[in-house]
Amino acid sequence: MLYDDFYIKSLIQTVEDWPKEGISFRDITPIFSDPKGLRMVVDAYIHRYIATDISHIACIDARGFLIASILAYELQKPLILVRKKGKLPGATISQKYALEYGEAELEIQEGAVSEGDQVLLFDDLIATGGTLCAAISLLKSQGANIKEVAAIIDLPDLKGSQIISDLEIPVYSLCAFEGE
Ligand code: AMP
Repeated sequence: MLYDDFYIKSLIQTVEDWPKEGISFRDITPIFSDPKGLRMVVDAYIHRYIATDISHIACIDARGFLIASILAYELQKPLILVRKKGKLPGATISQKYALEYGEAELEIQEGAVSEGDQVLLFDDLIATGGTLCAAISLLKSQGANIKEVAAIIDLPDLKGSQIISDLEIPVYSLCAFEGE
């Protein structure tokens, strides 16, 4: 094993009842203040993807950007930013998705991906999978193929990783937490 999931989990801080009551927020900030942990996380993905045919890395606003931009640099791949509505200038393509209360919208810039691109899609955490599924729809609508979804943390009880697997997209995460 190239990484120690127990060590990585020890760097994820659980903040109860944040940002609202009942949520156990899994905070990845301590990974970035631990150089060994950051290296372990980044290297795990680099070893997994260095010999694959991924052509692009896409990542989700905003915590997804942090690791994915290092991967894009190390793997020498173009980085696609999937952002919350209103953040990207110029012509964009957008996709709405449901939140627990209300809805949200993600966007990519027109031309960010093209037919046949082989995309690794990255976010920090998979919960219900709503965010990643919206990003998958956006990228697929432009003809891209999603080679794999990668995250640091999976919350399998919320079924997002299962929903993505059911779309026949492989899912890879470095660690998992039970419950919400
Ligand atoms: P979902 O769309 O339900 O899979 O939620 C995933 C997105 O929301 C990711 O971008 C996460 O950063 C964020 N998120 C959802 N639940 C949590 C949680 N318990 N702790 C930290 N981030 C979360």
